Amino acid sequence: MLDEPLAIPLGALARRALTPDEGPSLTLLDGSCYRVDAGRTPPGRRVRIGRGWRVASQPATDGRQAVLLGVKRGGTLVVSGVPVPTLAREFGTPLYVMDEARLRERCRTYVASLRERYANSQVVFASKAFCCMAMCRLAHDEGLYVDVASPGELATAVRAGVPASHLLLHGNNKTPDELRGALELGVGRIVLDNFYDLELLDALTRKTGRTADVLLRLTPGIEPHTHRAIQTGGVDSKFGFGMLDGTAREAVARALDVHGIRLRGIHCHIGSQIFDVEPFVQSAEALMEFAGWMARDHRVVIDDLNLGGGPGVRYLPGDRPLEIDAYAAALIEVVRRRARELGLPLPRVLVEPGRSIVGDAGVTLYRVGAIKPIPGVRTYVAVDGGMYENPRPALYQARYQSVLAERLDEPCTATVTIAGRCCESGDVLIWDAVLPAPRADDLLAVFSTGAYNYSMASNYNRYPRPAVVFVSDGRARLVVQRETVDDVLARDVPPA
Ligand code: PLP
Repeated sequence: MLDEPLAIPLGALARRALTPDEGPSLTLLDGSCYRVDAGRTPPGRRVRIGRGWRVASQPATDGRQAVLLGVKRGGTLVVSGVPVPTLAREFGTPLYVMDEARLRERCRTYVASLRERYANSQVVFASKAFCCMAMCRLAHDEGLYVDVASPGELATAVRAGVPASHLLLHGNNKTPDELRGALELGVGRIVLDNFYDLELLDALTRKTGRTADVLLRLTPGIEPHTHRAIQTGGVDSKFGFGMLDGTAREAVARALDVHGIRLRGIHCHIGSQIFDVEPFVQSAEALMEFAGWMARDHRVVIDDLNLGGGPGVRYLPGDRPLEIDAYAAALIEVVRRRARELGLPLPRVLVEPGRSIVGDAGVTLYRVGAIKPIPGVRTYVAVDGGMYENPRPALYQARYQSVLAERLDEPCTATVTIAGRCCESGDVLIWDAVLPAPRADDLLAVFSTGAYNYSMASNYNRYPRPAVVFVSDGRARLVVQRETVDDVLARDVPPA
């Protein structure tokens, strides 16, 4: 009996077993079949998967995207040692499940990949990807700083115990109150996005006598190959000072004129879910070039070069995320080379990943309800969640993989559409999911939901938001409680 969790490359997850007498086995999403040799599971919790694969039951550290998912005989999905039916029973559905070991491993991979090459580096967790106190604390414990972009994210990080000096404040329309709050708190870096920011900070620093350490967010005019809604570095962007139209240069001149501002460096973030290293290299080149210009024309040497976030994660089997090591190597090569060529001192290098820290550590569990076959058209399988807890498919046609979590050993014979329960025809979570024919009450698991799911959830249709649990080593702990309808109504003023 196999009850050890397996580490299976995400996106290569078991779809069906061979036959019961062949023992637990996996058919991966790329179509290959593996037999799990459970009888010879050696101590150290390693298991052999056919064709000689050996996968530790700890997350892979070799850069392969892996999460601690497993299959028990009987076709039950296990996440980090916890069978998902247990999670559903204990915490209800829909449920965001985060593999804690995977989160930590991703943080460590980032820190090690940069530090080994470049000691003066700092990884910053972009909390917008998944913001709750438990995650901010985890990131802090792993040596990351935290990027916040709103008063709510700021308060979350602070209450989780992240020192203000380890915070970076972003935002393309910070209010005077938000900036005042950040100044009073002593936020490590305020990232100025536009001239309005600059003017507000000028006025505030004069008034309070405080000094702000700032970075300028620059828009290098680079458009990575990703969905338009998550491109941020192109010329036509609401973010940052344009580098191609001269605004960035003007911003430097004006920032240097403000007495209460210490211009500590420059920042860019070109977009999200990027698989190619080239746009990152181009933006690092562009920013180093700009740093050279600052040194020549203004005699200002930057302390910080913040290259933003953006590396993608695997949602579908064909997705090929960047190896963090290769990404770090490419960035550092540019920084060292350009610093040498331009005669600049080496800056501190920061990166701000969000999705690639948390994305594939997340699995969302749903209960199947109504099933509506439309002969000759499609079958809608409705689950107890939807766009209120995962708006990404509706927002930018994001695609996901799913399994019926208690029927992994059954052949996938049905192609169905997984619909949410919001009152929108566009509330579809997955078009054309290939599954064993779903039945009411089945448990559906959707993978790679760790990023921009919980953090983008809303109360649309006044649905309460799901709970979040961290699982690790066979144990689950609640980190965000499920909302209740009373929570949703709490701010309504009852009619007289
Ligand atoms: N930094 C900034 C300024 C961002 O706007 C974002 C995402 O929008 C990130 C970092 C994180 O990006 P990702 O989650 O793609 O790593």
